[in-house]
Amino acid sequence: MHLPGDVINLLGFKTACYEPSCPPASKEFPPPFTFKYTAPLRRIVDEEGMPAGYVTAIRGMVDRILASGGQLFIDANLTDLQALHSGEVRLKFGSQSVLTKMVLLNLPRASFLGLPSLRAATPSRTVQMAECVKFDTPTKFFPPGSFSLGKSLAKAYAFYKDAWWHNHLNLTVGQWPANAFEPVNTSEGIPIGIHWNDGPVRCHAPLQGCRGFLEVFYSAANEDFFEDLRPNDLEPLGILQGEGSAAKLKRLHAAVMEATKPLFENRSISQPEEPPTMLVVGIWDRTGHGYTAPTKVYYSLDSSTPGGADPLEKACGVSGLTDKEYRDSLLFPLPELKQVVLANNDWSAMPVEKMFGDWAEESLLQAERALHANGVPRPSWLDEDYYNLKVVGEAVVTFV
Ligand SMILES: Cc1cc2nc3c(=O)[nH]c(=O)nc-3n(C[C@H](O)[C@H](O)[C@H](O)COP(=O)(O)OP(=O)(O)OC[C@H]3O[C@@H](n4cnc5c(N)ncnc54)[C@H](O)[C@@H]3O)c2cc1C
Repeated sequence: MHLPGDVINLLGFKTACYEPSCPPASKEFPPPFTFKYTAPLRRIVDEEGMPAGYVTAIRGMVDRILASGGQLFIDANLTDLQALHSGEVRLKFGSQSVLTKMVLLNLPRASFLGLPSLRAATPSRTVQMAECVKFDTPTKFFPPGSFSLGKSLAKAYAFYKDAWWHNHLNLTVGQWPANAFEPVNTSEGIPIGIHWNDGPVRCHAPLQGCRGFLEVFYSAANEDFFEDLRPNDLEPLGILQGEGSAAKLKRLHAAVMEATKPLFENRSISQPEEPPTMLVVGIWDRTGHGYTAPTKVYYSLDSSTPGGADPLEKACGVSGLTDKEYRDSLLFPLPELKQVVLANNDWSAMPVEKMFGDWAEESLLQAERALHANGVPRPSWLDEDYYNLKVVGEAVVTFV
């Protein structure tokens, strides 16, 4: 993926393969999904080789913007956008406003639809597209029971002083169960899906004296335990530790031990009794409220879809709608004003059979397509073949 890959290289961050064996990305995806790139998945790491976190790339970009004379305003909530007859645009932030000639709105669905003047000026056909969220589940693609779609996409990491998966089991790669995205249900009511190498772990020596974070859940499966840890639906980060957390951490440990029991039994090793001392979760809502996971339009032409084949025009109730019209209309919500750009992961429509995850690539490609349409050439750091295929090849019709 040259986006965001080429940006991360440009920023000079060190990266390492996500899976230590560096398999082609297409081999890492659990069926039925297929990943359309073969280069291994990589992540940013720090000087010690520890995962540095996805926010590192964002901080790196912000540093570049500031160094180039840009300004950053944090906690500035856009409340409206008015297109003026002069061709300028007024951005309103509560009682304050700013006039601009061009604006790139990195806004998800609910935020875009919540700007009253922009919504009123956007063609009603485009508003209908923007209101459309779909996730078809044809049984030919998702055999019954093979895939569950809950209220959110959640990630959870448990901190163990004794990183038993290193210290006792020598398990440092792969997943448990084999497809951790479909987790093991436990009698605690806490589903568990482990990715052994995802969290940062520090050791005195390889496989000895290790402590660290274990990814115990990363799934869209229906559950409440992890989801209930977020402070409110606008805050995806939840942390459980210290006073009052012991009972829940004990329950979590019981669930992890239940799910991993066969691994200990196969090695005739007794299970650790000490529960984790901390649990960190990221919760991205799928219901359309608060801080949402990307909500896209995943439709299916297959007749095994509940309710029958569901082409895009039917899925969204917009006659004659195509993927291209959807893409172009949302990118420029005011068709006469190519200086008002909308780029966000939410603005994507495709057959569910082609789904390959929610990646930053989508938003960055949209932004690059809008720049291309506004006459900005390919940035020198972005791979030329990729640019020609994904930006020029999928460009909007009108150019300036
Ligand atoms: C669990 C999880 C794991 C992921 N892992 C990866 C990965 O490994 N690699 C990868 O490439 N992608 C990954 N992604 C996807 C990636 O995080 C998203 O694709 C990316 O963040 C989407 O970026 P975006 O800019 O489109 O939208 P967002 O990140 O949603 O940004 C929108 C921004 O707009 C702000 N905003 C909303 N309303 C307003 C308003 N009215 N005024 C001002 N600001 C507003 C929001 O606060 C937010 O900061 C992951 C996503 C999830 C949920």
